[in-house]
Amino acid sequence: MQLAFTPEQQAHQQTFHAFVQAEVLPRVEAYDEAGVFPPELVSALGQAGYLGALAPTSLGGLGLDMLTFGLLNEALGQGCASARSLLTVHSMVLASLLRWGSAAQKARWLPGFVSGRLVGAFALTEPESGSDANSLATAAMPDGEGFRLTGCKKWITFGQTAGLFLLFAKLDGRTTAFLVERDTPGLTVVPIAPPAGCRASMLAELRLESCRVPAANLLGRAGAGWTYVANTALDNGRYSVAWGCVGLAQACLDATVAYTGARRQFGAFLKEHQLIQAMLTDMVANVEAARLLCCKAGYLQQTGDPGAPLATSLAKYFAARAAGQVASEAVQAHGANGFSRAYPVQRHWRDAKVMDVIEGSRQIQQMVIGRAYAGR
Ligand SMILES: Cc1cc2nc3c(=O)[nH]c(=O)nc-3n(C[C@H](O)[C@H](O)[C@H](O)COP(=O)(O)OP(=O)(O)OC[C@H]3O[C@@H](n4cnc5c(N)ncnc54)[C@H](O)[C@@H]3O)c2cc1C
Repeated sequence: MQLAFTPEQQAHQQTFHAFVQAEVLPRVEAYDEAGVFPPELVSALGQAGYLGALAPTSLGGLGLDMLTFGLLNEALGQGCASARSLLTVHSMVLASLLRWGSAAQKARWLPGFVSGRLVGAFALTEPESGSDANSLATAAMPDGEGFRLTGCKKWITFGQTAGLFLLFAKLDGRTTAFLVERDTPGLTVVPIAPPAGCRASMLAELRLESCRVPAANLLGRAGAGWTYVANTALDNGRYSVAWGCVGLAQACLDATVAYTGARRQFGAFLKEHQLIQAMLTDMVANVEAARLLCCKAGYLQQTGDPGAPLATSLAKYFAARAAGQVASEAVQAHGANGFSRAYPVQRHWRDAKVMDVIEGSRQIQQMVIGRAYAGR
């Protein structure tokens, strides 16, 4: 396994960071506080091609390899977890459409998806179905040439603004994936107030009351929604979140190096005190180890290795935990200023906690990884 990025990957990396520097960092604290993601930032992400990052160039996408896609998530994660969350959920739907969509579905939705004119959201969680994600109460009833969906989805990232939902419901007791357009009669989008972390991720609840979806909107086969479609999407989402956590942790490390190099206590810069150096050492080790696990997962995903899903779970598990630890230490090293909106570490600290819960919580990853290794 090669441990260096190619010149092309490095060039992309510089472009991603320049984008974050110009488009995200100048406004992130303001929009995070407001809890509203700027529509012009969605447009900028679309214009840069990032919302079509995974689509092949033949379909107008950037056609990024998985490692370069990881670097995009790292750069966005370094700037803002809500922006990276948009890329995550949109790419989950895009990857599912590319993998499981019919020719007609691709022709209908891919152009909008790739350009960013149409934003996708992933609707699995329900009020009573979280970690046990296959225990859905939302039901699909056959109705002529289509289906009627009834139920409720909760905590849907960018649910407030998405145009197309990849939504899961039970059809004859088996989880089935549907593509539900926002303006479908019977679908009501109810905004959720900005939470403590990822405040600008435009969360929504989706209420479905006899919501009629044509048969042409069924994604993959009936009953294949969990094993195939949801798992394709979740694997992609975990990969994206893991890299986002590397970015978040790197941002905390950089902020801490800068802060402790500028503030003096006991006659010396904070970074000259050995206990602060120990803190920095743990932060560096966490960041570097998380990035290496992400690189391994990306390499296995790119080569289609059957070990890729497990490596991705491990990367997500470790990177989310690392992000939490690094962000917490960053706040510690900033003292009282760590809680001030004048410094970014408080935002990263709040956002990092979300990463431990979403896309399969820490405990769910422990179950997946522990069981896999116990069974060997
Ligand atoms: C900011 C944010 C964005 C989100 N975006 C989306 C989205 O876009 N789409 C979507 O579908 N969902 C989304 N979610 C929901 C998210 O996927 C769920 O919160 C997550 O799956 C956990 O489910 P839960 O909150 O119901 O917790 P629960 O499942 O009730 O779990 C509560 C706690 O118990 C632990 N636990 C559960 N089962 C076990 C077990 N067997 N053994 C040990 N511990 C266990 C969990 O790890 C957790 O710590 C989002 C959530 C947040 C906070």
